[in-house]
Amino acid sequence: MNSFEFQNPTKLLFGPDKLSQLGQEISVYGKKVLLVYGGGSIKSSGLYDRVLQQLEQIQAEVHELAGVEPNPRVTTVKKGIDICRQQGVDFILAVGGGSVLDAAKAVAAGVPYDGDVWDFCIRKAQIQSALPLGTVLTLSATGSEMNGNSVITNWEENLKKSFGSIHAYPKFSILDPTLTYSVPANQTVNGIVDMMSHVFEQYFSPTTGTPLQERLCESILQTVIENGEQALQYPSDYAARANIMLCGTYALNGGMISIGMQNDWATHMIEHEVSAIYDIAHAEGLSVLFPNWMKYVYQERIDRFVQYAVRVWQIDPNGKSDNEIALAGIQATREYFTRIGAPSRLSDLNIDAKELDRMAKETVRFGPVGSFKPLYESDVRQILEMSL
Ligand code: NAP
Ligand code: FE
Repeated sequence: MNSFEFQNPTKLLFGPDKLSQLGQEISVYGKKVLLVYGGGSIKSSGLYDRVLQQLEQIQAEVHELAGVEPNPRVTTVKKGIDICRQQGVDFILAVGGGSVLDAAKAVAAGVPYDGDVWDFCIRKAQIQSALPLGTVLTLSATGSEMNGNSVITNWEENLKKSFGSIHAYPKFSILDPTLTYSVPANQTVNGIVDMMSHVFEQYFSPTTGTPLQERLCESILQTVIENGEQALQYPSDYAARANIMLCGTYALNGGMISIGMQNDWATHMIEHEVSAIYDIAHAEGLSVLFPNWMKYVYQERIDRFVQYAVRVWQIDPNGKSDNEIALAGIQATREYFTRIGAPSRLSDLNIDAKELDRMAKETVRFGPVGSFKPLYESDVRQILEMSL
């Protein structure tokens, strides 16, 4: 295990009764609120009205940034920054999925910064401060509700880049599993794949001597696998939705499950370049890429892949070589993704070989990616080719 420092300042309020505390939580920080939301799901579900009631109760002055896109755009973020500056906003409230939360974080960090907010995404500048931000999560997937990360797309340049900062952690996040009952099946699938992928990025690590962290990862994976199918079959099953929601939050909350471990994140970085050119859902790209990344790297540390196969997928090791066990675990991953309806090939997403070179090149813009096996441009190209 490596030395580590860990801090997660986000307060979680979990349960169906917690939305009633929203106004009170906001009033600690401010009264001039920018309400950030997406394409309208919060209006059709009635959540918008419930949120406004809470804001009325504390007599907040409310401004809105509506229409945040899945794969949120830097142009939208800039609109939010302008509103905050013009209106003197002192608190940002994000109500939605990961895209809404990520856009809100970029707005929060962009307001006190004199330069272009995109600078944070291309590592030209570091975030020094941000407006306080709170969230009401409506989709279990990204972990954005309890981490300092944000992923922003720049369509003019076909780039999708992320930043992370302690200043971008939400002050609080309200997690009400009943708000996810209306999430359509395909987005539920995306959430399952994304949170499993977050665990993979941490679990497949070159660091050794970390049995607690490995078991935390394995139990999140098993819990998602079991409850994912249940939630897909019964979208209003409270226990299934609640378990998935908590798994999503645990899977990526500042590295708690992989404390003292080197992370990988190569697959996420490759995926970001795919969805920067083709407007696909983040998790659709991950579903295609992850099993191929696994096949490409598993021999680096086959013991971790054997452990994964046996503990997570209950592959019977008897009479099998390590190679066979590892490959059976990778195959089980692919079969699970297929069973829940996630794509397995780039061609399923209408992506051909045309842009592979560009995607591979951009993935390694800041140097090789990943730590389990550092990947260079030609490695990334091969993984993309395997995924066609
Ligand atoms: P999302 O893009 O926020 O939302 C996807 C769709 O689900 C939207 O159309 C949204 O509709 C809808 N939706 C959300 N909640 C709903 C509900 N309760 N009922 C019905 N529909 C609902 O999805 P996401 O997977 O959470 O976020 C994906 C983004 O996060 C990607 O850009 C990805 O790169 C990024 N990401 C961030 C992190 C991080 O740590 N910050 C990690 C991984 C990925 P409306 O727009 O109408 O609300
Ligand atoms: Fe992700």
